[in-house]
Amino acid sequence: MILVLEKRITQIQKDKIKNMLSDEGCIIREIVDAGRNIIGIIGNCKKSENELRQCEGVADVMPIKTSYKLVSRDFKSEDSKVQIGNVVVGGDRIVIIAGPCAVESPDQAMTIAREVKKYGAVLFRGGAYKPRSSPYSFQGLEEEGLKILADVRKETGLGVVTEITSPAQADLMMKYVDVVQIGARNMQNFELLKCVGQMDKPVVLKRGLASTIQEWLMSAEYIMAGGNSDVILCERGIRTFEPYTRNTLDLSAIPVLKKLTHLPIVIDPSHATGIREKVSPMARAAVAAGADALMIEVHNNPDQALSDGPQSLYPEQFGQLTRDIYVIAPVVGKQLDFDYLRKSRMINNLDRDSSKTAAFIGEYGAYSHKASLGYFGDEIKPVPVQSFKEIFNAVQSGKTQYGVIPLENSLSGSIHENFDLLQEYDLKIIGEITIRIKHALIAHENADKKAIKKILAPPPAFSQCRNYLDQYPDIQLVPVTATSSAVRHVKDSGDISAAAIGSTMAARIFNMKILEESIEDNPRNYTRFAIIAKESKYIENANKTSIVFSTDNKPGALFEIMKIFSKYKINLVKLESRPMPGKPWEYMFYADLETDLEDEVMLPVMEELKEKSETFKILGRY
Ligand code: PEP
Ligand code: MN
Repeated sequence: MILVLEKRITQIQKDKIKNMLSDEGCIIREIVDAGRNIIGIIGNCKKSENELRQCEGVADVMPIKTSYKLVSRDFKSEDSKVQIGNVVVGGDRIVIIAGPCAVESPDQAMTIAREVKKYGAVLFRGGAYKPRSSPYSFQGLEEEGLKILADVRKETGLGVVTEITSPAQADLMMKYVDVVQIGARNMQNFELLKCVGQMDKPVVLKRGLASTIQEWLMSAEYIMAGGNSDVILCERGIRTFEPYTRNTLDLSAIPVLKKLTHLPIVIDPSHATGIREKVSPMARAAVAAGADALMIEVHNNPDQALSDGPQSLYPEQFGQLTRDIYVIAPVVGKQLDFDYLRKSRMINNLDRDSSKTAAFIGEYGAYSHKASLGYFGDEIKPVPVQSFKEIFNAVQSGKTQYGVIPLENSLSGSIHENFDLLQEYDLKIIGEITIRIKHALIAHENADKKAIKKILAPPPAFSQCRNYLDQYPDIQLVPVTATSSAVRHVKDSGDISAAAIGSTMAARIFNMKILEESIEDNPRNYTRFAIIAKESKYIENANKTSIVFSTDNKPGALFEIMKIFSKYKINLVKLESRPMPGKPWEYMFYADLETDLEDEVMLPVMEELKEKSETFKILGRY
């Protein structure tokens, strides 16, 4: 049963409810979900739904119909995020866990860890206690293996994941690793589930070889009922009649689970397929289907691996896979961040008095909000402001540490105002992120699509949805500053004949109805955002440099600059001209270069650029 508490409930009223439930022998859990204070009642509650409804301070009472309770979406509607050191599973960033099936030696583990880290893994996996089908197979290095994992963490900064096969190993696990894994064969080992339920460590719970999703969720319930809510579900293939793969990867489990539970999902295509060449296709499909994380077996010498060599990727193959995932993730609203660990370290090392905030335009649910979450995760708090200038001012004055500004859209082009502001302010671009823009038409719950008379959106959103809007020439288009502001205006106006163009995230945040999804003209609708800050001191080696320059007003002046890029084989990925303020028909040029211009070896390039340009400024390197 779920009790939704009234917003203005007093502490005395709340304590009274809690004491009454405890006296009845109920187990209770308090959470905040979608802005509501909730008490979940698990176990047998003698009070009827009606009796509970009568309690002072209770706004609503809802039964949880499923046999699993704490893991159910009914209990918690928002996605759960599991924090592992600096890494969050279940957020906007895809988490890549990789490593060998078993830890075999310090050298083997360290070599593979360095490789997988280089290619984007943020957690390292390796078994120290191996549950093998044959008692004669390699059983793992046991405590020695755990020590090696702890060394890997120390050396590489990667959190480490390993399997626990018996409650007797709990203390060692607490000492050496960051995440414990319950293997497929132990999914219904209830003593082990109770044990990890009491541990203060995140748990990866693999699906049993022949377990239903219901049984799997009941096992997760054991862990959560024990007090540990950091549970990640891992689909690793189930037994079917099909012999061409080791198991059958049940990818449909992803959307099924997303509906039933708030817990994050990791997909293990290695044990699912058992065959190296089948791993990457299934990993790509898993991300497309909505997986939060991947767990991939990688070995530097698979032929000699002591377990699961045939399904282990070579490090380079793993690198190719993560590049593909990098491209696929934004299509489904996620990111693969090759800079994840360095960025998190940087954020955690910020001075204590740093604001740890990022200004963005609009309201929560804006694409800029999503860009902030995709770039920083939850570590930096996004702060909504009302104009681009306000973002620049906030960063300049130190009110916020960072700013998130859209620079260009693949359909509607550059956001010129931000290029001009970059020129005006002395701030640095420290990073960039590209987000897929998938617009929805959003209105009130009781709105009727046919009765919509006006649509609110910022001008670029109108132009991205041109074809759709052209079908309704009688609808009035009202420009506002951001999509999320449009959603808020419509919400606040109470006008059921008004709609907004915005993200599904905004619709969810403002509790509004989606009248139509994907109304943008072209599905390849992406916006590139820049992250701005006062300085860029934490950037070690950058791949890209953004510059702004002007040239003399004489023939071939721009060509002279281009010649420098050509001479040093520097790839130009953007060139944009903007009028110079107060100088009609004179232009500044913005360029993005695929190089780190501040690298020492680039000194001659810098000198030539400065010589051939009239003004020259580095906007940032990232
Ligand atoms: C493993 O992850 O190495 C493992 C043994 O997996 P599973 O429990 O899925 O077979
Ligand atoms: Mn394995």
